[in-house]
Amino acid sequence: MPEVFLDYIAGRWTECKSKKTFPNINPASTDEVVGLFQASGADDVQAAFDAAAKAQPAWAALPAPKRGEFLFKAAEILDARLAKLGEEMTREEGKTLPEAKGEVKRAINIFRYIGGEGARQFNYQIPSERENVFCYTIRKPLGVAGLITPWNFPSAIPAWKMAPALVAGNTVVIKPASLAPLSAYRLVEALHEAGLPPGVVNYVTGGGGSAGNAIVEHPALRALSFTGSCEVGNALHDKVGRRKIRLQLEMGGKNPTIVLKDSDLDYAADVLVNGAFFSTGQKCTACSRAIIEKPVYDPLVEKLLEKTRKLKVGNGLEPGVDIGPAVDANQLETDLKYIEIGKKEGAKLLCGGNRLTGGAYSKGYFVEPALFAGVTPEMRIAQEEIFGPVLALMVANDFEDSIRLANCVRFGLSASIVSRDLTRVHQFVNRIEAGLITVNLPTAGVEYQLPFGGTKESSFGMREQGPQALDFYTETRTVYLKYTQ
Ligand code: NAP
Repeated sequence: MPEVFLDYIAGRWTECKSKKTFPNINPASTDEVVGLFQASGADDVQAAFDAAAKAQPAWAALPAPKRGEFLFKAAEILDARLAKLGEEMTREEGKTLPEAKGEVKRAINIFRYIGGEGARQFNYQIPSERENVFCYTIRKPLGVAGLITPWNFPSAIPAWKMAPALVAGNTVVIKPASLAPLSAYRLVEALHEAGLPPGVVNYVTGGGGSAGNAIVEHPALRALSFTGSCEVGNALHDKVGRRKIRLQLEMGGKNPTIVLKDSDLDYAADVLVNGAFFSTGQKCTACSRAIIEKPVYDPLVEKLLEKTRKLKVGNGLEPGVDIGPAVDANQLETDLKYIEIGKKEGAKLLCGGNRLTGGAYSKGYFVEPALFAGVTPEMRIAQEEIFGPVLALMVANDFEDSIRLANCVRFGLSASIVSRDLTRVHQFVNRIEAGLITVNLPTAGVEYQLPFGGTKESSFGMREQGPQALDFYTETRTVYLKYTQ
């Protein structure tokens, strides 16, 4: 019988009111139920908000460095369990074990880094025009923050939302994605064991339309941080826009890598393969468009084909596997659907693109990484987020053309360039429409201590992570203090 995981409300592990559960399935081996999670609804979310609202004043009154100490303690607990948590993540989400362990480590680093913000929380002290007046700003928490997270970074994203919310003095109601709720559960468990006061974090699992919607609609909600698809994010924007709630949306991408003619082509091919296919292309920052300057297009495509064919698809727990499964049947169907769309649109499938079946693949959602040549900017595979291991190869006539092609999508999350031409690199940095810009590195692979977020339709609201992480979760108050009468 699979283990049953409970909600966490008011410091207690709690069964949901309906007593119904839903399964968390291993996408590499679909007869394995990783756990059963609570199918929570509006009643459970109400209880979570009651607890969060009750706990918030005392939590905010605690000195910020002391709030940070709970994150430090939780980080220690998680560190001691890193190997187990990595394995669990591979089983619930499918990414390879090294990727999963790397992500747990990242969540730990986030708790440590943001825990340190408890002792910083820098503000401004600004000279007054008037004599004997001292002017400064202070930060105040917002109240109860609702956090809704996706399945593809099931530990790092809950960590990078919870940590700054807490250290700033807010209390939290978090709902993780139904496809991978265990990794966030482990973070909450560590915070519980670290002695976090009851009600400060409340963890509720359940469907987006039920538990998620109840968070969004709750009248006590003061800040909503969402990461997920544009479709859901835009609907949330419409819903809460008029309520003057602090809103942060991190959504999809269609991220380009430009390769200029001066590049080392072996290096460029590695950058592309890593950015496009690792984590099965299921990163919001994954590269899905390679924009290659004409003179090096053919030789680079040869190298890409060679490297792509060598990638090993399989169960992420097995050593040597490069690419795990799609996260579920729907995502697999989306990947295969777009591969068919690409063919129908006239792009040439150079390799991959088939579902892998039989033997070791018989119980999972495995798909071969696909390379499409001859992709033109109006094609759907050049415009729409697929979120799978599909790379569209496009020819750029020159540098100008590469920038035009890179920017002609509605998204603007991440973008990279491979080149040794310093002038072109700086021009790219200035002109590319993306929030995350990398040079001679894949589009994916960002670090916790720097701000994260996109532009255009990929993001809305303030940046997450890095020194700016607290801005979203705090309100600035301005003080004018005359020290004589
Ligand atoms: P999703 O379907 O939009 O779901 C994200 C979260 O929203 C889940 O917890 C989901 O719950 C919940 N949800 C769904 N409908 C809701 C509703 N009506 N009200 C409130 N909550 C609702 O996205 P996903 O498939 O999990 O994640 C993949 C997407 O995330 C991709 O588009 C990817 O680009 C994006 N992403 C962006 C970033 C970034 O930082 N920009 C990072 C990672 C991923 P259920 O799971 O229960 O449906």
